[in-house]
Amino acid sequence: MTIAIIAHDGKKADMVGFIKDHITTFQEKKISVIATGTTGSHVERAGLDVELMLSGPYGGDAQIASRLVEGHVDMVIFFRDPLGKHPHEVDVNMLMRLCDVHNIPLATNIAAATRFVQTL
Ligand code: PGA
Repeated sequence: MTIAIIAHDGKKADMVGFIKDHITTFQEKKISVIATGTTGSHVERAGLDVELMLSGPYGGDAQIASRLVEGHVDMVIFFRDPLGKHPHEVDVNMLMRLCDVHNIPLATNIAAATRFVQTL
C-alpha cells in the first residue's frame, strides 16, 4: 500500500503531528509513503521513511498525480490550507480531480485522515 502525503505550508505542522501520532501504524503495516518535497522533508525528520517528489509548486503534486493515474497510489492525505493562496492551485485541483476519476480515497483534513488510518 502506498500513501501520498502533502501539506500546504499552513498545515505542515499539523501533518508532522499527525504522522507522529500514527507513525507506528505506518511502520508496522509497511506503508510506502511518497510526499511532495517540503512536506516529505518535515515528515522524514519526524522519523518516517519517505520517497520525496519535487516541491509542490515545482511539480510535486503533478508527480504524485502521475503515479496515481498509473495505479501506484492507494490513498492521498492532503492537508490543504483553505485560507491561503497557492501558485500551483491548478496542480492541486488536478490531483484532487484525478483522485475522483480513479476512485482513490482523498483526506483533506485531520479528521478524515484519522478515519483513513483506522482502516489500514
Ligand atoms: P511542499 O508542497 O510539500 O513541497 O511544500 C506542498 C504543496 O503542494 O503545496
